[in-house]
Amino acid sequence: MRLRNIKGARESIEKSPFVELAPEEYRGRWRERFGNNRPVWLEVGMGKGQFIMELARRHPEVNVIGVEMYSSVLIRAVQKREQEEMENLLFLRIDARTLPECFAQGEVGRIFLNFSDPWPKDRHAKRRLTSRQFLERYVNILEPEGLVEFKTDNRDLYTFSLEEHEAAGWHLLYSTEDLHRDEEAMRDNVMTEYEERFSAKGNPIYKMVIRRP
Ligand code: SAM
Repeated sequence: MRLRNIKGARESIEKSPFVELAPEEYRGRWRERFGNNRPVWLEVGMGKGQFIMELARRHPEVNVIGVEMYSSVLIRAVQKREQEEMENLLFLRIDARTLPECFAQGEVGRIFLNFSDPWPKDRHAKRRLTSRQFLERYVNILEPEGLVEFKTDNRDLYTFSLEEHEAAGWHLLYSTEDLHRDEEAMRDNVMTEYEERFSAKGNPIYKMVIRRP
């Protein structure tokens, strides 16, 4: 994602009621934070929030949390949330490496990873959000049947992700090298900003759904 520094973004986020600034305090108590007993789903690396807003609209029966580490990106999602009342949506400005400090074992039902940064250099592999190091963090917060849904237009990242899930003992439930040609899968598909951009150029979209060990 191209990052433009947006003046005042950090300060606006710190005043926003839609961003939880001390997520560690809610570890094990997210349902209490939302005031209900519904499942909790996360999008990690949510960018400007198009996907997560639509996910929250389609699933009022779920509590949805968007994770993004940069204020200059997160502010765009916060601005969208200001225009629309949504009780089931919250944002966190954190690095996903700290997820196990923010969520207790079994607290999360589903994690969505959309068009994650590819980090093409081998020495940066552990920064990829589908690396075995990240999969281990997800195991620490997901419920026993918990899922990760991952989409990308990057073939190398897709191949890497298939290898990593297997090495980490996850179960592959679904995979495709051309999501937009899979009519059934497209019925539930929520488009992200990157997905719109890349599919408009004719790039195939890869998707995998995996269940934790
Ligand atoms: N998911 C959006 C989409 O599909 O349009 C945005 C994709 S963008 C390429 C990836 C986003 O993930 C960026 O906004 C980046 O800041 C965020 N990101 C990358 N690594 C992250 C991490 N470790 N923790 C939180 N956010 C991260």
